[in-house]
Amino acid sequence: MKVLITGGAGFLGSHITDYMIKQGHHVTCMDNLVTGSKENIQHLFGNPQFSFVNQDVTNFIHVPGKIDAVLHFASPASPVDYLKIPIPTLKVGSLGTHKTLGLAKEKKAIFMIASTSEVYGDPLINPQNEKYWGNVNPVGPRGVYDEAKRFAEAMTMAYHRYHKMPVRILRIFNTYGPRMRLKDGRAIPNFVTQAIKGSPITVYGDGSQTRSLCYVDDLVRGIYKLLLSNMNEPVNIGNPEEITLMELAETVKSLVKSKSKIVLKPLPVDDPKVRCPDITLAKKSLKWEPQVSLKEGLAKTIPYFRKALKES
Ligand code: UDP
Repeated sequence: MKVLITGGAGFLGSHITDYMIKQGHHVTCMDNLVTGSKENIQHLFGNPQFSFVNQDVTNFIHVPGKIDAVLHFASPASPVDYLKIPIPTLKVGSLGTHKTLGLAKEKKAIFMIASTSEVYGDPLINPQNEKYWGNVNPVGPRGVYDEAKRFAEAMTMAYHRYHKMPVRILRIFNTYGPRMRLKDGRAIPNFVTQAIKGSPITVYGDGSQTRSLCYVDDLVRGIYKLLLSNMNEPVNIGNPEEITLMELAETVKSLVKSKSKIVLKPLPVDDPKVRCPDITLAKKSLKWEPQVSLKEGLAKTIPYFRKALKES
């Protein structure tokens, strides 16, 4: 296949790019490097299966030649980032989805949108299955990400229904692994770098909120299976191993063998109290489930952060 991945220089985008290239596909990676980085794709320059285009996907996209699949993964994904750049976040989820859908239609390509567990907002049911409509505050600070992704899903379904396009709607739950930025601001980069440096580990709120964390390799396998499936409806891809943030801080501290103190900081506005994917659909339809436990995944991720900190 010839694949276009927007956000291909980001954390997830670059891992998907690597996976696709290993499977023998050709990847054009499109990124404006706002939160992505050339370092994530440096090893691919010179590879005939790879090309890079520095472009903002909220503007008209022209890509010459054949494309079999368009994967729209461009977007800030850390709450810290999307609170800092709210308008580009809204634009890449809305205008960027429209432009990439238009391109996929023109090329008769499969379209995949990287959606999110944030479409469920601060969920009133736990775990969340794909039929749940969510509990999102549209005018709260997180609304810029959540509503952009909800719009992206609506737009994608409209193209599927009206233009009969094959689409894939991937609802990604919290994911971690190598290539996350040191200053990404999300829980794992913060906790791991704080633990390594011996500085206080900052747990927001009382630490009783939960998340369910998926190691990036598991997620990428799931994404690939979804792409090759014929599922046009949303599918949750995530690890259902649910943990409180306090437990996560303690786990990281003990795996790093750190002497850091755990300190409590104010909870961000509208921070979801629980989050856990119901992956019944992915298990049944894609024959996919995660294989890497949190402890195994952290053991693969901590050395990456140690090295990145040394080089920073
Ligand atoms: N969090 C925390 N300390 C940090 C960073 C995040 O306790 O230094 C909490 C945050 O309040 C949330 C959870 O960790 O409850 C996951 O936050 P993250 O930013 O990783 O992603 P989210 O799931 O909120 O999109």
